Amino acid sequence: MEKYIYMDNAATTRVKKEVLEEMLPYFSENYGNPSSVYTLGSKSKNAVEIARERVAKAINAKPSEIFFTAGGSEADNWAIKGVAFANRNKGNHIITSKIEHHAVLHTCEYLEKQGFRVTYLDVDEYGIVDLEQLKESITDETILITIMFANNEIGTIQPIKEIGEIAKSHGIYFHTDAVQAVGHINIDVDDLNIDLLSMAAHKFYGPKGVGALYVRKGVKLDSLIAGGGQERSRRAGTENVPGIVGMGKAIELAYEHLEESNKKLIELRDRLINKVFENIDHVRLNGHPTQRLPGNVNLCFEFIEGESMLLSLDMEGIAASSGSACTSGSLEPSHVLLAIGLPHEIAHGSLRLSLGDFNTEEEVDYVVEKLTEIVSRLRAMSPLYEKVKKEEK
Ligand SMILES: *Cc1c(COP(=O)(O)O)cnc(C)c1O
Repeated sequence: MEKYIYMDNAATTRVKKEVLEEMLPYFSENYGNPSSVYTLGSKSKNAVEIARERVAKAINAKPSEIFFTAGGSEADNWAIKGVAFANRNKGNHIITSKIEHHAVLHTCEYLEKQGFRVTYLDVDEYGIVDLEQLKESITDETILITIMFANNEIGTIQPIKEIGEIAKSHGIYFHTDAVQAVGHINIDVDDLNIDLLSMAAHKFYGPKGVGALYVRKGVKLDSLIAGGGQERSRRAGTENVPGIVGMGKAIELAYEHLEESNKKLIELRDRLINKVFENIDHVRLNGHPTQRLPGNVNLCFEFIEGESMLLSLDMEGIAASSGSACTSGSLEPSHVLLAIGLPHEIAHGSLRLSLGDFNTEEEVDYVVEKLTEIVSRLRAMSPLYEKVKKEEK
């Protein structure tokens, strides 16, 4: 393929060169087990602790409040199950939203089977949670509020500070799945009253399979993985040293260049959105017009299936994502698009283009050009579109 354009940075990102370079020595030179007492072990241990400091600094936490995990899903599972099981004597009620990542939603569903009660908050047409409904949902039994920082599909950023204040004023723990936000938005866990926060390195140009959970000092949390004394006896298992080193470097790089990176991403994002609207009719932008991730574009093209758009884009060397998860042959529209009130037939025509640091203006223009061709080709096969166009004349 002569040209490959990657616009699926919300799914995962390319590891940056500087990140890979810092990781490499920890595979076959400094390969010691961090728990070993000899020099080779302590080299690994030191590297892990430097990474912990870098991660802590990025969100204004203390290094002792950062626990490395095998990614975002594990961090979400740990935060929610860990709080639920450790605080069962205080209550059995959890509040979340309808647009969470499946790592949160499926964990909550699991807890419902274990006897917990879960409230799934509605969101408005932009994907913002209903704060009044949040306040009304709180009872004496509520032990946890878990609301994502920014949505992975439509990019909407939640009013995290307000949610943190509500949680704090009721003495309820607040967890946020910040997997899409860390490395892309400034985060201060103290200012935002966050008690637990999940992140994953591969969403900010670090390696896959490594993440972290921030746990505020004093939060009562059960462990999920029993074994050795790693991570201060709270998460057993020999540390993924190269991964952790990469995560530390990636988070430091991300915040060093946050402003310039976001400025460029917002320019590219808005260029993409504007050009799509200039060239294609019957299209809508999903998510919030301003409270959205710098790199996120989520569009619905009426009269088309998202999956057919993806396949056509792939043939042109463009990687993107659709809102419908094609599992076992059945097309289920995204729970997020349904929660913002889109009817099934429109939710099926969704396309997510998530921009990253490696994308260029030329790529954006090329993608819009191809997208315009693809949409008009697919619509030419739609009798409904033909009918609507005739009626409009
Ligand atoms: C990617 C993602 C996850 C899962 O992270 P993994 O590292 O893939 O386990 C969880 N939540 C959100 C919002 C995500 O975008």
